[in-house]
Amino acid sequence: MLTDRPPSTAALRARFLESDRLTALDIPNDDRLQASAESIHSAMHGSTASSVRHACTEFLSVASGFYLVRQPAIRVLAARPLRVREGGSSIELFGDYDPETMLIRLWMRTAIRKQVTSFGTFLSTLCHEFCHHLDCQRFGFRESWHTRGFYERTAALYHHARGTPVKPLFWVRAPGERWRIDWPRTNRGA
Ligand SMILES: [Zn+2]
Repeated sequence: MLTDRPPSTAALRARFLESDRLTALDIPNDDRLQASAESIHSAMHGSTASSVRHACTEFLSVASGFYLVRQPAIRVLAARPLRVREGGSSIELFGDYDPETMLIRLWMRTAIRKQVTSFGTFLSTLCHEFCHHLDCQRFGFRESWHTRGFYERTAALYHHARGTPVKPLFWVRAPGERWRIDWPRTNRGA
């Protein structure tokens, strides 16, 4: 995972840094999101897009209720369209979010090799796109950059929903004032 390049204007840059520093995200103290995530997992075994969409809608309903935001719409597509609008410098292989229509799209297969998306990747994409929604609807980060804070918030939501412990993320500098996750260190936890 790689962060976006910071914007060049001072005002936007300040907002970017705010998003970068916002590393914490409140998470519910019940297990309703975990139960919804499990329903998504079961639905993926049947692999019809409509049952998966149904389970995702439930997940988004619970999450939106907790974070007090409007519920985004969801579309689950069997395969990724070959041409897809990609925001800025990031390439999102498994989903996207449109801030205008508040629509999350997720796909169950990748475009190129037609591989089935794993449950872990699918759930982490759902959490990622929902965090774009939170940026726009709750935090006022309209550009919803991929900052270190954004990835930390996404990880907090994902690990809560998956029922796995949150790992501290370790970052290393990348060219162009960007950061990327140091996976060996992150996986080692030191
Ligand atoms: Zn994104």
